[in-house]
Amino acid sequence: MHQESFPNTDSQSGPRSQQRVASGGRSKVPLKQGRSLMDWIRLTKSGKDLTGLKGRLIEVTEEELKKHNKKDDCWICIRGFVYNVSPYMEYHPGGEEELMRAAGSDGTDLFDQVHRWVNYESMLKECLVGRMAIKPALPKDYREEKKVLNGMLPKSQVTDTLAREGPSSPSYDWFQTDSLVTIVVYTKQKDISLGSITVDHQGDSFRVETIIKDYSYLIHIGLSHEIQEDFSVQVVENGGKIEIVLKKKESTTWKSLGCPLENHNSLLPKKDTDLYYRKCQLISKEDVTHDTKLFSVMLPPSTHLQVPVGQHVYLKLTIAGTEIVKPYTPVSDSLVPEFKEPVFPNSKYIYFLVKIYPAGLFTPELDLLQIGDYVSVSNPEGSFKISQFQEMEDLFLLAAGTGFTPMVKVLHYALTGIPSLRKVKLMFFNKTEDDIIWRSQLEKLALKDKRFDVEFVLSAPPSEWSGKQGYISPALLSEFLKKSLEKSKVLICICGPTPFTEQGMKLLHDLNFSKDEIHSFTA
Ligand code: FAD
Ligand code: NAP
Repeated sequence: MHQESFPNTDSQSGPRSQQRVASGGRSKVPLKQGRSLMDWIRLTKSGKDLTGLKGRLIEVTEEELKKHNKKDDCWICIRGFVYNVSPYMEYHPGGEEELMRAAGSDGTDLFDQVHRWVNYESMLKECLVGRMAIKPALPKDYREEKKVLNGMLPKSQVTDTLAREGPSSPSYDWFQTDSLVTIVVYTKQKDISLGSITVDHQGDSFRVETIIKDYSYLIHIGLSHEIQEDFSVQVVENGGKIEIVLKKKESTTWKSLGCPLENHNSLLPKKDTDLYYRKCQLISKEDVTHDTKLFSVMLPPSTHLQVPVGQHVYLKLTIAGTEIVKPYTPVSDSLVPEFKEPVFPNSKYIYFLVKIYPAGLFTPELDLLQIGDYVSVSNPEGSFKISQFQEMEDLFLLAAGTGFTPMVKVLHYALTGIPSLRKVKLMFFNKTEDDIIWRSQLEKLALKDKRFDVEFVLSAPPSEWSGKQGYISPALLSEFLKKSLEKSKVLICICGPTPFTEQGMKLLHDLNFSKDEIHSFTA
């Protein structure tokens, strides 16, 4: 163990201290002293030659790549770029072994499985050796040049990929009046909601991304004329028709909508698309517990973005010249209206409950932001689907620490939008009473809504604590997970430190809950 480098993590914890370092979506290994990500960033700025190539970039053949497969000489290719990751080994939060799995080979798939969102280009830029001489093959369907065919997808994409596995092919059209331009997207999907669409007008780029099942349909255009800042977005029919109404700056007739930009009119598996960010302004920051704060950020006027229930976004800050990205789950501004006056129109504001780790990389920087400063916010991601709520009668929520954040919107949606719901129970695990987020709001909600119940479990309770104590266990769960009726349709949501979630999942399976009855929130 390396207590010196992470006193905040290790010094107070019990037998779980090795596991407890998992603060992201996967297990982390303890790093040696002086090997934190901040130390890595410092090293990359030191001017040291990290590739051994004195700043030269080379073309790397597959044969050459294969030769560099040892810890002290390890090259990895990600999306066609080759990095010498040997100097980074000791700094990698996932450990050397995880990196070595891709040694001397194309690690793109492995990388995407674990942390597609990590901004490796920025983190590893000083380790760049060069490009692959022959680019590793991307799936055939997505490499093709996309042509604009009056808003229809290129035929090959429609027939090959979509017919096999994707949604039926979306398309778009546009029309105009003297003052307005309307872009219509035909998704041909019934369950399209405003949360499925993200629209951004930034500089010369007008971008509409629609999530259809696990695919992303992108309209990306350099508009031919100027428009006003605000626009409206509506889903107009059950059949999944979306209308985006733009206001012209001048009432001239547009001969075309504009010119196609990168990936315009493409339908790609969402996992193959890049995260898209816009800069949001910090509007407020309030203490919630001794270490957790409620941040609210405002979207730019020319962005439409709604984070669906159960999904997260990525926040990006440049820290010491390196872009750092971490996932956060938006919450509502409160659980019960009495606790907050709705000052802001909710569609323009995003709220985050964030725990600040003094020895962390990202959260201390986030905490340093002043009101009016900017943080970049990505499009929403996540595997939770509203359809998991269908016909649900009993909802059980298991949360530990900030693992409470996805439960906030889940709870609200269940209590307001699921007619079949009979019971919602939250079991909330924390170390001490001072760590409990929104305790009085939760108690108030339980008083107000008879269907809702909350139980707090403390792992380090004071002697006078009369409530439940300990860690997640079979005894706690079997008592907690009592259905309202024997045959109730149940959903169990679980979120917290990775080892907590993994342990909980195992216990739930042991208690014979099926996969469909459990949702675990992870990155
Ligand atoms: P880190 O640098 O990751 O460090 C966190 C702590 O772990 C520190 O005490 C640090 O010293 C210690 N540590 C880090 N690496 C090691 C190591 N290798 N060995 C030993 N100790 C180590 N958090 C929220 O507060 N609110 C949310 O809404 C939220 N939503 C999330 C959603 C998802 C999908 C996921 C996966 C995570 C979410 N998180 C959320 C967690 C968040 O993404 C960050 O992991 C968290 O904020 C810590 O980031 P950091 O860079 O400040 O800390
Ligand atoms: P924390 O305070 O460290 O832990 C909360 C409670 O869980 C404490 O009682 C703690 O006990 C207990 N715990 C810790 N490790 C455990 C384990 N292995 N088994 C059983 N119980 C355990 O939590 P936090 O610092 O707020 O961290 C919250 C975590 O949730 C982070 O890892 C974050 O990444 C994750 N998160 C994920 C998502 C998501 O995936 N969507 C969203 C939000 C947060 P002790 O402290 O006494 O050990």
